[in-house]
Amino acid sequence: MKVFERLDASVSFGEEERLLLESVRKLAREKLAPRAAELDRTATFPQENVRDINQLGLNAMFVPEAYGGSPVSYAAYLACVREISAACASTGIIWATTFHAMKPLVDFGAEEQKKRLLPRIASGGLGALAITEPTAGSDATGMKTRFTPDGDHIVIDGGKTFITNGDLADLYLLFGKWSGEADDRRAISCLLLEKNTPGLSVLRTEDKMGHRASSTAALAFERCRVPRANLLAGPGEGLKLLLASLNRSRPSVAAHALGIARAAFQDAVAYVNQRRQSGHAIIEFQGIQFLLADLAAELAQCEAWLWHVARLVDGGAADFGIEASILKLRASDLAMRIATEAVQLHGGYGYCKDYRVERLMRDAKITQIWEGTNQIHRQLIGRHFTEK
Ligand SMILES: Cc1cc2nc3c(=O)[nH]c(=O)nc-3n(C[C@H](O)[C@H](O)[C@H](O)COP(=O)(O)OP(=O)(O)OC[C@H]3O[C@@H](n4cnc5c(N)ncnc54)[C@H](O)[C@@H]3O)c2cc1C
Repeated sequence: MKVFERLDASVSFGEEERLLLESVRKLAREKLAPRAAELDRTATFPQENVRDINQLGLNAMFVPEAYGGSPVSYAAYLACVREISAACASTGIIWATTFHAMKPLVDFGAEEQKKRLLPRIASGGLGALAITEPTAGSDATGMKTRFTPDGDHIVIDGGKTFITNGDLADLYLLFGKWSGEADDRRAISCLLLEKNTPGLSVLRTEDKMGHRASSTAALAFERCRVPRANLLAGPGEGLKLLLASLNRSRPSVAAHALGIARAAFQDAVAYVNQRRQSGHAIIEFQGIQFLLADLAAELAQCEAWLWHVARLVDGGAADFGIEASILKLRASDLAMRIATEAVQLHGGYGYCKDYRVERLMRDAKITQIWEGTNQIHRQLIGRHFTEK
């Protein structure tokens, strides 16, 4: 694993970030990883993991100092996502979702909104990002949730589906359309919805293939009133916020997918070294070596691209959407491939729940679907090369 250790060591972190990463690694190794199989088996939300993450104060990295936080570089954030997700993919996405949902508030919120809402996130509150609707998935501009102004309030009617943390969030970043604006793109607006707002209800949570310990909720809004002070940016400015938020969340879900990929690769290597057939450790067979070589080469290159994107973001680049799409596409396809091959390399044992690769393969699948399906990312990347 020297190749990967050296790649990790090539990323430059400050001293405080290095210490933080060390404590995240310890948490992942000692607490999150040992709990993951049981949480998956029972599909239980990992309250204990969230508590432990909050004891380390990890949410503080999502929030500027002025509002009670303690920000780190984007590279350090991605490294934390990867570590947590390698140990427990459900916990990884629960934690990262709060970042995905709150980053637009940090970047586009008014001073009063940030002062009022961000301290509760810094101290451990859960966020949810609510875009998808039953009839608007890949094409978010088809969303039907309505925001109707009513004096000092906005009335929300509609519904969302597949919302991570949707039944438990303290704060929702919610997208909908401004009433009276006919143009789909110009109507999209964004507001902050607080927990327990009357008119917000949870219709159900999904019974899923993987990420079974994270909750995925369908929400309904019926004459749900929020103060107009919770509107983020202006009416009709939601699409800009949506795209900006996806640019930050896509590298993050890629880091999450690479956590799954790393875990599967490690398990595969450990197994082929120890498993013997025909008088040999199976890693001695050339067919197995060729497969490991291909997986290692792709993993190393994809991780190098992760740090490339992190450097772009930390360097202040405004336009990195295509690089983010390339990363999300590659990392998630690779997570699925390595997890599937890891099951194959475990033979019949890989198909049984005694080995972690069985869970990793189920957890990997969604990474190709959420945050824009990989078909959509292929379309975005391909379209970028159209000559104008
Ligand atoms: C576990 C889980 C957690 C999620 N968390 C969140 C969350 O926190 N917040 C949130 O807002 N959403 C969330 N989602 C929703 C997720 O982002 C959507 O499922 C995803 O964007 C796809 O939308 P869809 O399911 O409606 O599929 P559809 O858009 O209906 O797509 C169906 C198929 O058609 C393909 N397709 C669609 N359009 C095109 C096209 N133009 N070209 C080629 N192929 C196309 C798709 O790639 C896909 O294969 C989550 C979903 C799941 C399952």
